[in-house]
Amino acid sequence: MKTEILKLNKAGSPQAWINYEDAATAKSKGQVLWEMGSLAISLRGGFQNSGEQSQLDIPAIIAVKGRVVEQMVPQISNPVLFARDDHMCLYCGHTFVAREHSRDHVIPRSRGGRDVWENCVTSCRKCNNYKADKTPEEAGLELLAIPFAPNLYEWFYLDNRNVLTDQMEYLKSKFQNVFVA
Ligand SMILES: [Zn+2]
Repeated sequence: MKTEILKLNKAGSPQAWINYEDAATAKSKGQVLWEMGSLAISLRGGFQNSGEQSQLDIPAIIAVKGRVVEQMVPQISNPVLFARDDHMCLYCGHTFVAREHSRDHVIPRSRGGRDVWENCVTSCRKCNNYKADKTPEEAGLELLAIPFAPNLYEWFYLDNRNVLTDQMEYLKSKFQNVFVA
């Protein structure tokens, strides 16, 4: 799995996961205001006149110049939803393989339930089929956790399955609902 660089705006808010190449471009264009975290990779460039090969160090986190725009947490998506719920069915507690995951609407859509973080949980297909268009109470099911909307820091963590330790430390400081060791 590819390591990615966490890009922040100058206010320190996460903007994107970017690849080494884009981080290198930002650095060489002088767009990086500050860096954090240990070295993610050291890129070798062309040979200089002295015969030495140039080198560009890419850190785990960079903050770039630019206008600060308040970024919203992206809309619900299955990969991030399943990561939020630790890949566990929130009805039966069963952990299962990716193809068995499904998105369940706690208040069914047919009953006006919305397709938002707070109304969606990871469910195995069995529980999802059993629950059908019933509420958990009607189906006699109990939620094992309260579905929540991740904040921006949590969303970036949940969106990347290969978060580096320094990136984790940075994001974790603003977690509200996600618990990590
Ligand atoms: Zn289940």
